Amino acid sequence: MNVLLVDPPYRASYPPVGLLKIGRFHRERGDAVTFVRGLSAPAAEKTWDRIYTASLFTFQWNTVVRTLRFYGGSVADPRRDLFAGGPLASLLGRDLGAAAPCRPVPGIVDSAEKIGLQGGDIDTLLPDYSLLTSPKDYPVLEHAWIASATRGCSGKCAFCSVREVDPRCVEYLPLKEQLDNCRQSLGERNGLVLLDNNVAMSPFLEKIAGDMAAEGFVKGRGTTADFSQGFEPALFAGPEGNRRADILASLPLDPIRIAWDFSGERDIYEQAVTAFAERGFSSFSTPLLYGFSDLPEDMYLRLLRITELEHELGIAIQAEPMGYLAPFLKRRPSPAERARAWGCSEGEVRRFEELLKKFRTREKGDGEGFSALFGKGPEDFRNRLRRRE
Ligand code: SF4
Repeated sequence: MNVLLVDPPYRASYPPVGLLKIGRFHRERGDAVTFVRGLSAPAAEKTWDRIYTASLFTFQWNTVVRTLRFYGGSVADPRRDLFAGGPLASLLGRDLGAAAPCRPVPGIVDSAEKIGLQGGDIDTLLPDYSLLTSPKDYPVLEHAWIASATRGCSGKCAFCSVREVDPRCVEYLPLKEQLDNCRQSLGERNGLVLLDNNVAMSPFLEKIAGDMAAEGFVKGRGTTADFSQGFEPALFAGPEGNRRADILASLPLDPIRIAWDFSGERDIYEQAVTAFAERGFSSFSTPLLYGFSDLPEDMYLRLLRITELEHELGIAIQAEPMGYLAPFLKRRPSPAERARAWGCSEGEVRRFEELLKKFRTREKGDGEGFSALFGKGPEDFRNRLRRRE
């Protein structure tokens, strides 16, 4: 069987791990497997027994549909042989099948029967990184290995689609085999990026930290580790939070990613950042959700407190504002739509987003600089957004 794997041409930080597991599955069956990134004319000119395409966010709809249409003529029957998997295909499979002839595969490919073949749980296979002809397509691989110590998430956050895309909750996965696989295909790396959705919730956190340490990811050894999806602040507040921070204290985490989604979480966010700062960590990154159930002033208050914490604790926090995207939306909301939700003008939204960009380049912990840019209080901030009309 000749099999083509396609990662659509959107911006992606990480390689499509699920697709590379399907690649291993087919290679172990004795099939010939080729991987391409984007729209490859030479690949589309051939006829394949099967083509598998990946997908990520629903707002990348146009790119995924374009990719499926591009490769639709490269299989005998796209409704049978052109497979569409990944988060977008899980959430919008029916629409996808209507927009471009294909065979959507919802959820995780945890049995070969889901793709019409006999075999075991494809998701438990190791991704075959040797299929990547140009690992430079995924810059993270130049400095780090990637792995998962857990899968799914038991949380039920209203704005998150993890439970639809991966409803299982696997609370421990050994790292050794995954890292040996990375070592073999990619060579030695000093960095480790973990893709876990909510690792701190795992009752096996200590075991996971031990697995990382056993592989050399310990402070002082010139290595770094990054839980790329970050930590929920509530899990690092109070005595239980301190216990978790103690478990992670010897790991070379850089940065520490702690989300601050709602202004009402101020107290737990502060506790979480302080718990890590007291254990010697100084580099933080904080995703800040906006446009969900908040107003522009909420962002002002969070950015102000972040600046104060930097000053008080002697740390640096990279703020990562993230506009809310409804899980089923097929494109990013326009400033006009965001303005309607906030009951303000489009100009205010544009100015708000410009200011957020400026926050990234400010001097850390500089309260005066913050006031000069954002105003002396939430009302002043709101007036500044209006003044530029
Ligand atoms: S904890 Fe994180 S991964 Fe889990 S449901 Fe909430 S946002 Fe999603």
